Amino acid sequence: MRVLIADDDALSRKILEESLSHWGYEPVITKDGDEAWDMLKEDGGPTLVVLDWVMPGMEGIEICQKVRARRTANYIYIILLSAKNSNEDVIKGLESGADDYISKPFHPEELKSRLKIGQRIIELEKRIMCLASTDYLTALLNRRAFMERMEAEINRVTRENKSFGIVIADLDHFKLVNDTYGHQAGDLVLQEFSRCLSSSFRIYDFIGRYGGEEFIVGLPGASSEVAGAIAERVRKRLEQHRTLVPDCDLEISVTASFGITSMENGRPQLSMDGLIKQADSALYMAKQLGRNRVEIFKSYGY
Ligand code: GH3
Ligand code: MG
Ligand code: MG
Repeated sequence: MRVLIADDDALSRKILEESLSHWGYEPVITKDGDEAWDMLKEDGGPTLVVLDWVMPGMEGIEICQKVRARRTANYIYIILLSAKNSNEDVIKGLESGADDYISKPFHPEELKSRLKIGQRIIELEKRIMCLASTDYLTALLNRRAFMERMEAEINRVTRENKSFGIVIADLDHFKLVNDTYGHQAGDLVLQEFSRCLSSSFRIYDFIGRYGGEEFIVGLPGASSEVAGAIAERVRKRLEQHRTLVPDCDLEISVTASFGITSMENGRPQLSMDGLIKQADSALYMAKQLGRNRVEIFKSYGY
């Protein structure tokens, strides 16, 4: 695990770097507060931090305040390590947003134990975030997580003047699958369809379970034609696929209908809800036209 060490004292840095490496961490070193903040504000930066208070550039407590004021993708666990050791200093440091406070000179084994606490909190937070954003049955994004990701991606493609495609897929006559083969068999079909979606789209596309047997895919940079072509491949694969139900000697075959739309570059910006409504009306049309088909939204038609 990477640990950011920010300390302007060369001896401190050396001891910290050696100790952390010895304990199996991957130290990332800086002697300057501004540089530390530059690393922390990036998504994907270190999430465990050992921060000195007094440093050139930004001070440790200012960095703590800035980290807490910003909504980062992952929780950043900060240990303030400072020669300031009065009760008032400790309180001020913790109030600024640090998770822990150690006075210099520090006892190496104590720092090791406190780093372990930080690691445990970070892992817990990751697990909670994963549970909160994942659909239990399919392991795809749940609806809330999908919408959050879509908002971020739409902001990005709008800034970059790129397209953004949406595919909504709904299994055809799925109620009949449950009624005929039972709910558990229905669950298996949903899981296999999810796997089929995951292996068919591009790595930067993101897939969510939108409702019971309804799925949604966001395709950054894709036009309706590109999104439609991928959906058509999924449609054909699913049509030929059979879900085997263990112990029952059953082979279930299902189809799906797909509605497509996109925000094309240069086109006036639509709200997220507006885009999803377009894809939904294309899906409705695919159902009306006989199911097991892909329809692209056309503003004049429906
Ligand atoms: P259409 O082609 O018009 O989409 O028909 P449909 O039967 O697929 O649509 P309808 O909305 O009538 O039925 C959806 C069914 O999906 C009903 C519901 O019981 C089932 N369903 C929703 N969530 C789950 C789930 O998690 N597991 C299982 N097994 N079934 C589910
Ligand atoms: Mg359906
Ligand atoms: Mg449905």
